[in-house]
Amino acid sequence: MSVRTRFAPSPTGYLHVGGARTALFSWLYARKSQGKFILRIEDTDRERSTQESIDAILDGMAWLGLQYDEGPFYQTQRMERYREVIQKLLDDGNAYYCYCTREELDELRQQQLANKQKPRYDGRYRDHDGPPRAGVDPVIRFRNPLEGEVVVHDLIRGNIVIQNSELDDLIIARSDGTPTYNLTVVVDDMDMGITHVIRGDDHINNTPRQINILRALGAESPQYAHVPMILGSDGKRLSKRHGAVGVMQYRDDGFLPEALLNYLVRLGWSYGDQEVFTLDEMIELFDIKDVNFSASTFNTEKLSWLNQHYIKTLDANHIAEHLHWHMQQCGIALDNGPPLIDLVEAYRERAKTLKEMASSSRFFYEEFEDYDEKAARKNLKPASLDVLIALRDGFAAVAGPDWSGAAAHDVVTRAAEENDLKLGKVAQPLRVAVSGTAVSPPIDITLQLLGRERTLARIDRAIAKITQDNP
Ligand code: GLU
Repeated sequence: MSVRTRFAPSPTGYLHVGGARTALFSWLYARKSQGKFILRIEDTDRERSTQESIDAILDGMAWLGLQYDEGPFYQTQRMERYREVIQKLLDDGNAYYCYCTREELDELRQQQLANKQKPRYDGRYRDHDGPPRAGVDPVIRFRNPLEGEVVVHDLIRGNIVIQNSELDDLIIARSDGTPTYNLTVVVDDMDMGITHVIRGDDHINNTPRQINILRALGAESPQYAHVPMILGSDGKRLSKRHGAVGVMQYRDDGFLPEALLNYLVRLGWSYGDQEVFTLDEMIELFDIKDVNFSASTFNTEKLSWLNQHYIKTLDANHIAEHLHWHMQQCGIALDNGPPLIDLVEAYRERAKTLKEMASSSRFFYEEFEDYDEKAARKNLKPASLDVLIALRDGFAAVAGPDWSGAAAHDVVTRAAEENDLKLGKVAQPLRVAVSGTAVSPPIDITLQLLGRERTLARIDRAIAKITQDNP
């Protein structure tokens, strides 16, 4: 049977890193097995589901490059089908109407707690065969077997055995007739021919119930793999408190999708001590059975390290495409400055994120307003005037078509020699003059990318500033 996996998020927030990791594992497993990966949006909770969140999930999947072969399917468009299955369960005697009121259920719960029992529905309408109770809109409950056990053959944790006597009759349709989570998941996994359910271990308690419903429907159970949760550095479940946890926040912060994917695949899965994996390697080497069953801790430093690794090593054109988005976010018009690919080459060894790359390269495209105060105080002072003038004259003497990093470098070296200064003492005032800050790529590359005219104008501006500040 060919493998079919799915990712089934509820659109009640953004796509967070835990969900993205589950999606990645499901995607990898399908790709590895030449199977299909399906996206299903579990949007039946109409109060909490939003279009914004659906968009965030789709955007997140697209940005990560987790393409789905089928879907997105929306549960709200399958209501008719759920009703049909609920009716079948009723007809076959596998489900029944329960007329308990909320007050009665509360009372039952109080009694059980007082008797130190685990609160659970006591099955009081299981065998009700009288007329419907007037004035109560009934829920529909699944008739869970009373005896025997359910064995979940979990691919990560091994066998999990649950006694049916532990499970009560769960509600599969609310009193307004709408289906509940456990019912819709079962129907969808069955109809969509899912062979492997890979999901967070917060669903582990649902699995035996879902297996029982599948059995009642005469369907075969998929295989299950419950992925352990992700913890923050303080050992608590990863949440907003730990900083960015939404996938798109990582894009906004300047991470490459390759870095996040690589980071996520290693959260709970390993292959020897290898840290860096291309997508092809992940597909080849990943196996859901090798996922660790203890929780993993999110480590932002490692993610940053991977991001730098990919900024340094990936194809510059590819990085330039992502950088383009950041330049737009920064409002930098690209038509008046160097090609982005050159920026990538100039910055890839130094920028930690694409966001940083974008914001620190603004001066190549537009005039900066103010000099960095500290940098200017240290470097743009009367003592720098002579060397700046020498540099200006030297650059002006280079003909436009001959402008290059090497030509600029020659001018800088000559100015250093003639003024009896170390190279750094020349390069730093020059850097502040042309970029407004004390950091930029190597000075020859900076000048090459900046171009002759801008270089001359910026040095003039710095000379004027020094003269004005020191009358
Ligand atoms: N919709 C569920 C959630 O977002 C996942 C259901 C499943 O994977 O079975 O938690």
